Amino acid sequence: MLRVAVVGGGPSGSCAAEVLAKAGIETWIFERKLDNAKPCGGAIPLCMVEEFDLPEEIIDRKVRNMRMISPSNREVEINLDRDDEYIGMCRREVMDSFLRNRAADLGATLVNGLVTKIDTGTDRKGPYKLHYSDYSAGERTGEAKTLEVDLIIGADGANSRVAKAMDAGDYNVAIAFQERIKLPSEEMAYYESLAEMYVGTDVSPDFYAWVFPKYDHVAVGTGTMQENQSLIKGLQVGIRERAKNRLLKGEVIKVEAHPIPEHPRPRRVVGGMALVGDAAGYVTKSSGEGIYFAAKSGRMCAEQIVATSNGGKSVPSERDLKVYLRKWDRKYGATYKVLEILQNIFYRNDAAREAFVEMCDDKDVQRLTFDSYLYKRVVMMNPWQQLKLTALTLGAVLRGNALAPGRYKAVPSAVRSEEEAQQILAEGGIRGGLKAGREAAAASEEESRQAVISR
Ligand SMILES: Cc1cc2nc3c(=O)[nH]c(=O)nc-3n(C[C@H](O)[C@H](O)[C@H](O)COP(=O)(O)OP(=O)(O)OC[C@H]3O[C@@H](n4cnc5c(N)ncnc54)[C@H](O)[C@@H]3O)c2cc1C
Repeated sequence: MLRVAVVGGGPSGSCAAEVLAKAGIETWIFERKLDNAKPCGGAIPLCMVEEFDLPEEIIDRKVRNMRMISPSNREVEINLDRDDEYIGMCRREVMDSFLRNRAADLGATLVNGLVTKIDTGTDRKGPYKLHYSDYSAGERTGEAKTLEVDLIIGADGANSRVAKAMDAGDYNVAIAFQERIKLPSEEMAYYESLAEMYVGTDVSPDFYAWVFPKYDHVAVGTGTMQENQSLIKGLQVGIRERAKNRLLKGEVIKVEAHPIPEHPRPRRVVGGMALVGDAAGYVTKSSGEGIYFAAKSGRMCAEQIVATSNGGKSVPSERDLKVYLRKWDRKYGATYKVLEILQNIFYRNDAAREAFVEMCDDKDVQRLTFDSYLYKRVVMMNPWQQLKLTALTLGAVLRGNALAPGRYKAVPSAVRSEEEAQQILAEGGIRGGLKAGREAAAASEEESRQAVISR
């Protein structure tokens, strides 16, 4: 009987293990930390809820309004027209443990263990021996154990050990930094079903910053390419500054940083080892979205294993596993390309970012964006829409130059008068978390380097 080890119990690993276990294949899923709270904005598209049968309880907030804020603080609200449409906001610790436990309930063996080494056999063709520290007894130092399997799915995220064992090659990463901030009820009410995206060189030279609502707090963060990693804390200061009137009396309850892959690894299948999710490099440009693609790639890889193993009676070959890659690239290759092009056009300077926000004011652009995000389907435009979009892009890019600000200002409070906001600010800004100013910039380089080194 085929034996498969899934390393990593995030969305990609759990969704792979679920399919394998359902098919009766002997499956182990390794997760080093069962209460792991993956640093993440936790935004998921609507289609994921149905496709992965997610219960309502794991969704903290249903966001129906997305507010885009330009460098000059032009605010454009994108609203979902239909009541049954939303972007789900989740806490990863909640979603991940739900998916993992579901796979275990279906028959996968859940091991609370850190995989430390993998013997890959001759020419990396297996059988594979995993060395791991088993923490199931609850001790601080795990018990050293081994397990032999026929196939490995590497679902162990951006710092993947499976990728190293299979010599998958490296990828460029972006660095993301996020603070979870608890707000008073007045401020929190504003974020009830609303998320904000800020653009501007002050908050990121090549990406966006966000304020996403969670269960009882907001996640405030930003990201940038690896070459700008030394700037990351200064950029976090930037988003705190820009949003400070909406984060009044905020208290930081968690600070987190993590790499985000920017493109797939050179090799995603080697011998009987296949990578999925962040380990493979499936995060989209522009939006930085990776949860849905992680879950979907885990599922597709596992389905390929089930289909080519004769129900678990034989061991699929490298060639068999590579069919999963072909299907993946065919299905999503264009989506990744389009989002990369959009990032290159619209995130390159403040003029382009002004243009980007201006374009988001158009109803057709909003519908196209939401349809492709929420339902993960390629949306065809009619000739009139195409013409209008081209004219809008050109017009917005030209106007963008005139609109780009000389300096950045904080957005006004959404729930208090200017006077009251200033008074509260005078009493002190956000409590805890990032150290402001120079100190932050100095600490920045070291901390963000650590986020990459720990890969
Ligand atoms: C700050 C930030 C914000 C983001 N916001 C969003 C967002 O709002 N929406 C979105 O769609 N995407 C977002 N992403 C991207 C998203 O978080 C990832 O794409 C997604 O988590 C990938 O899932 P995964 O299962 O492949 O990997 P992960 O979620 O990284 O899961 C890997 C798991 O493997 C475990 N593990 C690692 N090594 C080992 C080992 N050796 N042994 C055992 N277990 C191991 C880890 O503990 C972890 O649980 C964000 C990323 C960051 C950094």
